[in-house]
Amino acid sequence: MSIIKLLPDSVANQIAAGEVVQRPSSVVKELLENSIDSGAKTIKLIIKDAGKTLVQVIDDGIGMNKDDLKKCFFRHTTSKIRSSKDLYSLETMGFRGEALSSIASVSHMSIISNQDTNDSLGFEIKLDGGEEKLFNEIISSKGTTISVKNLFFNIPARRNFLKSDNVELKHIIDEFHRISLINHEINFIFINNNNELFNLSKSIFKERIIRIFGNSSKQKLIPISEETDIATISGFVFKPEYSRKTRSTQFFFVNNRFIKNSHLNHAVKTAYEGLIQDNLYPSYFLKINVPLNSIDVNIHPNKTEIKFDNDQSIYAILKSSIKHSLGQFNIAPTIDFDNNINLNTPYSFKNREASIPKVDYNQAFNPFENLTSPVDLKTKDFDFTNFDDSVGQDHFKNELEILKTNSFPSFQLKSKYIITKTSSGIVIINQKRAHQRILYEKFLKELSNKVNPIQTLLFPVKLDFNSEEIRMLKLIEAPLIHLGFKFNAFEPENIEISGIHPFLNQNNINELFQDFLKNKDYNQDNAVHTLNDLIAKLLAKYSSISSNESINVKLQESLVNDLFACKDPNVSPFGKLIFKLISLEEIIKIF
Ligand code: ADP
Ligand code: MG
Repeated sequence: MSIIKLLPDSVANQIAAGEVVQRPSSVVKELLENSIDSGAKTIKLIIKDAGKTLVQVIDDGIGMNKDDLKKCFFRHTTSKIRSSKDLYSLETMGFRGEALSSIASVSHMSIISNQDTNDSLGFEIKLDGGEEKLFNEIISSKGTTISVKNLFFNIPARRNFLKSDNVELKHIIDEFHRISLINHEINFIFINNNNELFNLSKSIFKERIIRIFGNSSKQKLIPISEETDIATISGFVFKPEYSRKTRSTQFFFVNNRFIKNSHLNHAVKTAYEGLIQDNLYPSYFLKINVPLNSIDVNIHPNKTEIKFDNDQSIYAILKSSIKHSLGQFNIAPTIDFDNNINLNTPYSFKNREASIPKVDYNQAFNPFENLTSPVDLKTKDFDFTNFDDSVGQDHFKNELEILKTNSFPSFQLKSKYIITKTSSGIVIINQKRAHQRILYEKFLKELSNKVNPIQTLLFPVKLDFNSEEIRMLKLIEAPLIHLGFKFNAFEPENIEISGIHPFLNQNNINELFQDFLKNKDYNQDNAVHTLNDLIAKLLAKYSSISSNESINVKLQESLVNDLFACKDPNVSPFGKLIFKLISLEEIIKIF
């Protein structure tokens, strides 16, 4: 006896629903996409109880006639493609013909549609679990209204699996963001439990971003624009200091469709390298337009993942266009010492009035005024190269010196941190990371200087490599020479160095070159900025003071000043936090 049977439609639809409809936000996505495909100018989304009781989408699009309304909720019914070749020239959001059938099979659904003018006769259909219960003529507006009630009413296990209203609403809002951002030429209204959450009128992309993410996002945006034969990239990224702990403001829209793509995300992340901390995510709103036949959208039921023919090239274009814009639009936070502005940095300063220590100290600070006469402060140009451990003093002596010089109050903790005060609290600075940042920016600048100083070595240093290593090192030869390196020989198996950058510690030469070889990245991507970036980073790493080095108070002071003169004093070139402010508020709380 044959045991193989064709599954009844209702079961097949429920199985498909498992893929397409995971939660109320999936319903929101599918219905909004259908309304967009219908050419609507205004779309209204109404939900109750985070979509668990009701998801309703009202549009003013082309609507459906009687026949289409009777068919639209069958499986694999679509008006959007006719043959498989259409799959490669898709301009619509939907095409699989699965959404309405899947949603209908797990809810109470009603659809009202009218292809004619407002207040004329249209049609209404009601379905329970995908079965037609009623078909009516009804006076209605032009367009389509789909209401989905009691999602998963017939699959208690799925219904119980839903999260709290808060969590489900968050998913819906995320979906709404994705759709309303890219369809900025459509008016959107979003009402939850009778509260209007969004009322967005038709606008340009930038304005839509600002309307959704608030007025404060205006100053955070950096425009991105790049046009090549393979892809056109446009949109915005947030300045690095506005990076966030979550990925909720990361948007790629490929041919007007929101997509997730870890490869492209990596491209953006690397464009921000050295500008943000490792545990933060850059925010971006990027439109990538590629020829319709160069992508495959059909690889996932909810179509948020796509395949590119040219993903390596798109990666490179994306990364370089963002790097370019970050460089062009001064990425540094506006550190206006006199203005008590909210810097809104992503670190400890967030949502707090932040003052930067550089000028924010009390010139008159001198509790020993009556005991010691202040010593005249001779300004001498300090550089951090000529450190001699004998210069190091114990903390007590350091503090005394602060008082004597009537200078910037700072002291060193554990030969590792510099602590200083501001009007709003205490700043703790990681000295090594601070110094790396200072040097990194200095080296980057020197790379574009015409002439740079050289430090000639008393005894040339010879290093052995294999031929492949030599081939890689050849790539950095020119920029290193530019930075003061002198190579006596660049042989197939060794190099001999007789001059180095004056800041580099001679003992670190070998390690520096080993590190260049470890970072093969520069070999793959011949973009100049990447190479320069790497050189500046590694040179900073091997030229900086260590995290166990006593430095006198004068050096502490210039380190602090130099740090806050940096373009981005927040993070080290390796993405590590440099300083933390402990606010007065926090200190008061302790007591
Ligand atoms: P798909 O969108 O993949 O075609 P759906 O199941 O989402 O499949 O929708 C089936 C069909 O129903 C669509 O192809 C379209 O013809 C019709 N339809 C659905 N929603 C609307 C709407 N809001 N306005 C007009 N037609 C619609
Ligand atoms: Mg659809």
